[in-house]
Amino acid sequence: MQLPNVIAIDGPAGVGKSTLGALLAERIGYLYFDTGVMYRALTLVALRLRLNLNDGETLEVLAKQVKITVDPPKIADGRQYTVIADGSDVTWAIRDPQVERNVSLVARYPEVRREMIRQQRAIGERGRVVMVGRDIGTVVMPKAELKIFLEASLEERARRRASERRTSSAESDLPQVRHDLARRDNLDQHVLRPAHDALILNTDDMTIADELDWIMDHLARRP
Ligand code: C5P
Repeated sequence: MQLPNVIAIDGPAGVGKSTLGALLAERIGYLYFDTGVMYRALTLVALRLRLNLNDGETLEVLAKQVKITVDPPKIADGRQYTVIADGSDVTWAIRDPQVERNVSLVARYPEVRREMIRQQRAIGERGRVVMVGRDIGTVVMPKAELKIFLEASLEERARRRASERRTSSAESDLPQVRHDLARRDNLDQHVLRPAHDALILNTDDMTIADELDWIMDHLARRP
């Protein structure tokens, strides 16, 4: 099977991009690269420095200065990768609710995006990579040979997110999860659209196993 060198998976928060991307990468022996972690790491550093998140210029300077790396995991604590920001391991800290609340604000600045995209593209161009995000197929890697855009209703995404959390931490509040996802959908709207050549997959009635089968089937049938 002739595999595409770059596979882009885009879609809204909570749609299951990361789970699917990681499984697919593992199955085909590719690097898995979740681009959202870069925006999250930058947001975390900005919060720790108590920077004003309404100051785009300062955030742009920070984006150029902070060294963010995403490496395969060396610690077996359930992580899919290790994220280092300026020498410190922030893999779990970037999942903080405070980061979650602010990341889309930081990601709105064109200057910040330009720098993140430049770094993401450099990794993507090495090839044999499954890249997950919002704008991979449209902006970061517009020449990716396979682009998938995942969709699911807000209700379904909230349900999945809430049940995911229930297994890892305290009982989640479904209305709150739904509210947070809707807010992020709204803030991410400016980057969230399928590329004209993306395959759109509505996952409302699919399990992760179904989604993986669907992609593997597609890969097997490509000319
Ligand atoms: O995918 P994840 O939820 O970790 O992404 C966090 C945030 O980073 C998104 O809500 C979005 O604001 C931003 N993001 C982005 N472009 C990407 C990936 C993430 O703007 N390619």
